[in-house]
Amino acid sequence: MPSSNPFEEWVHQRIREKVKWDKAFQELLNKKGSDEITKNDLGRYKLHRLKEMVRYVYDRSLFYKKLFEEKRILPEEINSFEDFHRIPFTTAKDILDNPYLISCITQDGILRGFTSEEADGRFRRIFFTMDELLNVIDSISAALKMVGVGANDIVQIVFPFEAEWGCNYLVEEAVRRAGGEPVSTGAIDFDEQVKKILDTRPKMILGSNPYLVKMTRAVSSRYDLRKLGVKTIVLSRGCDFYPFTESMREEIEKAWGCNAIDHYGTMEAGMANAIECPYQNGLHLNEADFYYEVVDVKSKEPLALGDEGELVFTTLSRTGMPLIRFRSRDVSYLVEKSCKCGVSTLRSMGGIRRKLKNDSQSQGLLESLNLIKRLRAIL
Ligand SMILES: [Zn+2]
Repeated sequence: MPSSNPFEEWVHQRIREKVKWDKAFQELLNKKGSDEITKNDLGRYKLHRLKEMVRYVYDRSLFYKKLFEEKRILPEEINSFEDFHRIPFTTAKDILDNPYLISCITQDGILRGFTSEEADGRFRRIFFTMDELLNVIDSISAALKMVGVGANDIVQIVFPFEAEWGCNYLVEEAVRRAGGEPVSTGAIDFDEQVKKILDTRPKMILGSNPYLVKMTRAVSSRYDLRKLGVKTIVLSRGCDFYPFTESMREEIEKAWGCNAIDHYGTMEAGMANAIECPYQNGLHLNEADFYYEVVDVKSKEPLALGDEGELVFTTLSRTGMPLIRFRSRDVSYLVEKSCKCGVSTLRSMGGIRRKLKNDSQSQGLLESLNLIKRLRAIL
């Protein structure tokens, strides 16, 4: 039975494909002709993929081979999520220092690298194959359908223009696949942007949250944005951290008279990890391509659902430069709950409110918050 939510259905479809082509996984799931993907199936899929990924990086990445050998971990010893949690983290510094050693293929197979400049002027690089970027487009397309993009809907994309296969291009293609019509304007002068919106009359605007928040504040006293007819604004978290709070959401929704949707996607994840549905009930996660954990910053131990800590993810399907237990430094929490949008098997995460600069920062505060949450649950 297909999920009624297009994004969840897309994740389920990827699992069905795995069942179809992978005999070991077929036996593990024992689906017996049923098409339904349950929460249990999703859990088994993630573990199966993690085991495959660990074997893959051990065989092909010089960085991971060395890391595993130093910690005396063999791929065949990883048989449960608990076993997997013994593997050391990959950090932003590891990526900065070893992009080519982490990679599992030669540069011939890489279509596009994304870079982010560090404070010391060095560049952090992440490499993607064409298949990986096509899959990113597919995942964004499914997410856009979930937030309401349908046939012939105009979507104005206001990310800064980049080289080929950059954010703008990926989202443009995703809008087309969802049946809509993309209009890319770039992150231009705010008044010029409003003029473009008046010309194109988009149903949806999609861009980075710093640009959209600043633009709203700059132009809302000069224009009645509510009259522009925009139904949804998707605020995307770019590579640089910029907080998106509930008061900012209210400010934007009030100014435009529309729904403001929070989106999370880091460069390391290929720009697309999680997005809210129109019910704004947590950000639904792409669990076909990522395994997410939230860990205590001090002890590095995985936390229970609902507890706030550092978000860590492992790529489940990348072959070019897979990442194992990448520490995002973003603070959030995971939840497992059904949503009115139809999502019933996918986990969701809270919005990202803060970014950790180092291991010890804010841990005292996080511990207090987690304690308050537990007390509330008891009372
Ligand atoms: Zn939902």
